Amino acid sequence: MEKRISGYTTLIGLLATPIKHTSSPKMHNEAFQYLGLDYAYLAFEVGNDGLEDAVKGLKAMQARGCNVSMPNKTVIHKYLDKLTPAAELAGAVNTVINDDGVLTGHITDGVGYMTSLKDAGFDIIGKKMTIVGAGGAATAICIQAALDGVSELSIFNQDDEFFARAEETVKKINEKTNCKAKLYRLEDKEALRREIADSVIFTNATGMGMKPYVGQTYIEKDMLRPDLIVSDVVYQPAKTRLLELAEEVGCKTINGLGMMLFQGAEAFKCWTGKEMPIEHMKEFLFGDNK
Ligand code: NAD
Repeated sequence: MEKRISGYTTLIGLLATPIKHTSSPKMHNEAFQYLGLDYAYLAFEVGNDGLEDAVKGLKAMQARGCNVSMPNKTVIHKYLDKLTPAAELAGAVNTVINDDGVLTGHITDGVGYMTSLKDAGFDIIGKKMTIVGAGGAATAICIQAALDGVSELSIFNQDDEFFARAEETVKKINEKTNCKAKLYRLEDKEALRREIADSVIFTNATGMGMKPYVGQTYIEKDMLRPDLIVSDVVYQPAKTRLLELAEEVGCKTINGLGMMLFQGAEAFKCWTGKEMPIEHMKEFLFGDNK
C-alpha cells in the first residue's frame, strides 16, 4: 500500500463514529490496488459536531468524496449542494461525490441491497415484499425497492421512535412511486403472518439477530414457507436465528454480506467510474463465508 501512495494519490474519506471496526477501507483500498487506481480510502472518527468542518476540509483538499455512516447519514445533506432522487426520498446520504467543488449526496444502501438479490438470482420486481425496520437501512431499501418496481411493500416496525419515520416513508412511496406501501406495528403478529403469506420475500432490516440480540428473532417458524425468500441485512453473524429458522423450513436465504459489498461497489463506481471487481472482492472479503 505505501508503495502505491504518491503525491498524485486522491483521497476518499469515511466520516462516522464509532468507526474503527469498519471494513470499508479494506474493501475499497483492495479494489483500488487490484484495478491500479490512484486513490486511497481512509476512515475518520467524525460525529455530527465536526461534520461541517470535515466536509469543508475534504472539499478544500480536493478529495474525490466520502462515505458517511452513523450518526451522520441524516445530517450531512445540510452541507451538500445536491442530492440524488433516492437520497432525497430516503432522507439519508451514505456517499458524497466531489465534482470540482460541487458536492452531491447519494444513498447506495438500497441499490446495494437490490443488486445483492439480483446477484443471488432472486427477482422481486413486480412482486410483494414484507420488511421489518424503519431506520437507515430499511428506509433506503424500501425507497429503492419502490423505485425499482416492487409492486407492494408491507412495512412493520416496533412501536418506538422510528415508527414516525416509517409513516413518512410510506407516505413518500405512495405519493412518488407506483408501489403500494402499508405500515403495521411489529407487535401485530397476525398482520405479520398475513402479509408474509402473500409476499415473495421477507426482509429483516433491523439489528435483531446481531449483538445484543444474537440468537433472537421476532419471527415464528410457521410464518415461513419453502418458496419464500428470507433476507437479513445483518451480516455479523453471517447466519442469524431468522436465517437458521428459514433454512429449517427450506426457504431460499440471503444475509447482509451482499448488501455490504454492493453498496460499496455502487459508491466505488460513483467515485471512479469503474466497476468494482466483484468476484475478486467476494473472495478477498468473505472467502468461504459467502
Ligand atoms: P437504525 O438505528 O437506523 O434503525 C434501527 C431499526 O431497528 C429501527 O427500525 C428499530 O425500530 C429497529 N429495532 C431496534 N431494536 C429492535 C428490536 N429489538 N426488535 C425489532 N426491531 C428493532 O439502524 P440501521 O442503520 O437501519 O441498521 C439496522 C441493521 O442493518 C443493523 O443490524 C445494521 O448492521 C444493518 N445494516 C446492514 C448493512 C449492510 O450493508 N448489510 C448496511 C446498513 C445497515
